Amino acid sequence: MTSTLQELTPYTGIEPDAAWAEEVRELARQRDAVLLAHNYQSPAIQDIADHTGDSLALSRIAAASDASTIVFCGVHFMAETAKILAPEKTVLIPDARAGCSLADSITGAQLRAWKAEHPGAVVVSYVNTTAEVKAETDICCTSSNAVDVVASIPEDREVLFCPDQFLGAHVKRETGRDNIHVWAGECHVHAGINGPELAERAAANPDADLFIHPECGCATSALYLAGEGTVPREKVKILSTGDMVHAARDTKAKTVLVATEIGMLHQLRKAAPEIDFRAVNERASCRYMKMITPAALLRSLREGVDEVHVDLETAARARASVQRMIEIGQPGGGE
Ligand code: SF4
Repeated sequence: MTSTLQELTPYTGIEPDAAWAEEVRELARQRDAVLLAHNYQSPAIQDIADHTGDSLALSRIAAASDASTIVFCGVHFMAETAKILAPEKTVLIPDARAGCSLADSITGAQLRAWKAEHPGAVVVSYVNTTAEVKAETDICCTSSNAVDVVASIPEDREVLFCPDQFLGAHVKRETGRDNIHVWAGECHVHAGINGPELAERAAANPDADLFIHPECGCATSALYLAGEGTVPREKVKILSTGDMVHAARDTKAKTVLVATEIGMLHQLRKAAPEIDFRAVNERASCRYMKMITPAALLRSLREGVDEVHVDLETAARARASVQRMIEIGQPGGGE
């Protein structure tokens, strides 16, 4: 599943036209499949899906669905999470090479070694992790509830937070705890959205709201800029991708600068067509997400590939850490 970006050549050669859409729908019906698409998918994939959303919302839809097959148009750890929550269903991902640089930044073995250095610490992992890492985790979190999850842990217990350093820094600042150790992982897309770029765009659009995903390299800068008055504090909204769609419907701003993967713009423009949504960094496109092409989706439905497997013991342990997250607070969001 994990490949370097250079090695990845997506399946191509099919236009997402009406004939494609008809064949996709017909094959999905024959397979008794529900099609799920993450917010960062290309517009054609988002539009053909039965449901579009963030990773955790989609996994919960997968578990609640009557369909016997889930086709998860997203990256591999997301399809794995669907399998963890719905082990009796067949879970397909249109291209199993669609990895995630953030999920790949910590392995199960690395987490076990880190835990050995901090006996008694509570492990909190963002949902962008493999099933093996979730199985080593005490409580999973999303970007929406990461602060609540950490706040629920007794003050005297050390916390190991992984894998995202930007979300970890946000949680550390918000909870004011100094016994949190943060893993130095990052997503290559989000890390590329930086503070200076954000400051420049904000200065050029003084009336715009700023929607920022806390995994972005600019989240800290955005709060700093707000603190020093460069950007009005009420204009900066740190949001999960799911919450961005709700905020799009509520904002009074005519322009919104969006700091996350550019696939998000499609859902935001659909939710509030009258608002001018602009990417802080137009190059912030996840090549892993874009591995799920129209050709890959058709191949998946025609051939019943690529099937996602998680062994039962790993799935049970991983499920427990996801369940604890759900018990602590109704999680919205995640990536
Ligand atoms: S945008 Fe980053 S965190 Fe999200 S799937 Fe791509 S590599 Fe992973």
